[in-house]
Amino acid sequence: MSAESRKANNFIQNLIEEAIASGQHQGKVVTRFPPEPNGYLHIGHAKSICLNFGIAETFDGQCTLRFDDTNPEKESQEYIDAITRDVSWLGCEWEGDVRFASDYFDAIYDFAVELIEKGKAYVCELTAEEMNEYRGSLKEPGRDSPHRDRPIEDNLRLFREMRDGKHEGGSLVLRAKIDMASPNINLRDPILYRIRYASHHQTGDTWCIYPMYDFTHPISDAMEGVTHSLCTLEFEDHRPLYDWVIDNISAPCKPRQIEFARLNLNYTITSKRKLKRLVDEGFVESWDDPRMPTISGMRRRGYTPQSLRSFCDMIGINKAGGTVDVGMLEHAIREDLNARAPRAMCVMRPLKVTLTNYPEGEGETLTLPVHPQDPEMGTREVPWTRTLYIDREDFAEEPPRKWKRLAPDQAVRLRGGYVMTCKDIVRDDSGEIVELRCEYDPATLGVNPEGYKPNGVIHWVSAEDSVEADVYLYDRLFNHEAPDSDKDVDFVTHINSENLVVQEGVRVEKSLAQARNDIPYQFEREGYFFLDELRSGTDRPVFNRTVTLRDSWAKAKK
Ligand code: ATP
Ligand code: MG
Repeated sequence: MSAESRKANNFIQNLIEEAIASGQHQGKVVTRFPPEPNGYLHIGHAKSICLNFGIAETFDGQCTLRFDDTNPEKESQEYIDAITRDVSWLGCEWEGDVRFASDYFDAIYDFAVELIEKGKAYVCELTAEEMNEYRGSLKEPGRDSPHRDRPIEDNLRLFREMRDGKHEGGSLVLRAKIDMASPNINLRDPILYRIRYASHHQTGDTWCIYPMYDFTHPISDAMEGVTHSLCTLEFEDHRPLYDWVIDNISAPCKPRQIEFARLNLNYTITSKRKLKRLVDEGFVESWDDPRMPTISGMRRRGYTPQSLRSFCDMIGINKAGGTVDVGMLEHAIREDLNARAPRAMCVMRPLKVTLTNYPEGEGETLTLPVHPQDPEMGTREVPWTRTLYIDREDFAEEPPRKWKRLAPDQAVRLRGGYVMTCKDIVRDDSGEIVELRCEYDPATLGVNPEGYKPNGVIHWVSAEDSVEADVYLYDRLFNHEAPDSDKDVDFVTHINSENLVVQEGVRVEKSLAQARNDIPYQFEREGYFFLDELRSGTDRPVFNRTVTLRDSWAKAKK
């Protein structure tokens, strides 16, 4: 989307534009995307990614990708790799190498020492419980720690000892000396450093003290020359602390924090912690399970980077929270795929059809467009033979009124092929219909029949010359609009027990034996489907349903 059309619904872009126009902002605009590597990215992160990289692009600036890695116990290389892959798949190019907050651990340590030297930080011995008690509440001011006025020299020594592993984990912390009576609890002498004897995925055992997020973040931003530090609204109350850190250290630059509303999607969870539970407790197979609202899961399901980006453009950036209808996300992918997805035919519940008047042992090759509205996408070859498969649901022995498909003694057109009339029904011993015997009309390829009218158009494949496949039909993972809205109800109780139907032994067009793995297909009349390379064995391809053709969900489930 162009900068122009994005302008209306992105207040941050508007702010920066005004600042530039009035001469308040000079130089490059620098943003960053700062994920914590404690899980896979989800659709909420896509919003932040599109915002940060989008702003950099709009203003010809730059955006860094920085892992906010100050909690070694919860982080891992697997998550770093997955996040890097996802950001790059979305089409974002970060400036320079991937960064880590841990790259700045030395600098952060030095800034902590600077604060101590200025009398603005102290080592505190209160236990976690005591600290809670001293902190006060929203109604009551806190009380000063008994260690608040420790001499600077002692603080320097103790902090060095903390770093050198002379104290037990959790026994001491470094705190900022700000204001225990501040109405903003974040300013009541927040912790800057704590002792953790944990190996770190980047720095190994170099450190046994780790800086807190609120201290690390402004410093990392400043180290990278970030001008606009964009974060979600829950950090609004942390901004005074962000500014305090920048103002009280000799920061190389002064980034500005701006908050925006996080993305909430109905029927969806957007919290890495909760998504991790779904994986750990086996509600889904993995982080990239196609039912997951993770970027990897959505990619495997067939979502395209373009569709996620246009979704983010549609929802815009504002200050007010709110919930976006997941239907909008589905709209974005349908729109993208409708224009670009190659068409193919897939018979979900195969019912054999024999064309009794078609010569045995013969066949022909029909040429169908890859996309009915886009001749540039070329054509595909579809074999036509004496035996075909149609979908069981496209035949009704006793058709209801207005039936637009096949019925006894009625004719239908087979998409891109001939018109045929159903003459006879063959059943097995149990009475189930196992075959239809039909007559095709050789004069109807590409032309209307004379003297009668077919009763609709249905899809089909050759029985002899098609490919067996499996399809995974996904439904929403949760059947509750706000699965984690009630604190007293575990969100997993809202999992939709019918979130997956596996349909084995479907029949797809022969050309799909070499299905592409870069864009989903539209299986005509069925939806959009994407090859699942992780599941496709050597014997048959597996397709994930990305999305249905139309939104039938709201109606069906109400
Ligand atoms: P989670 O609760 O899922 O772990 P987080 O905010 O802790 O989310 P981070 O890895 O810290 O995850 O997030 C990286 C960036 O993405 C942050 O700037 C954060 O504000 C942003 N972000 C996270 N979730 C959303 C969301 N739902 N909508 C918009 N931005 C988000
Ligand atoms: Mg976080």
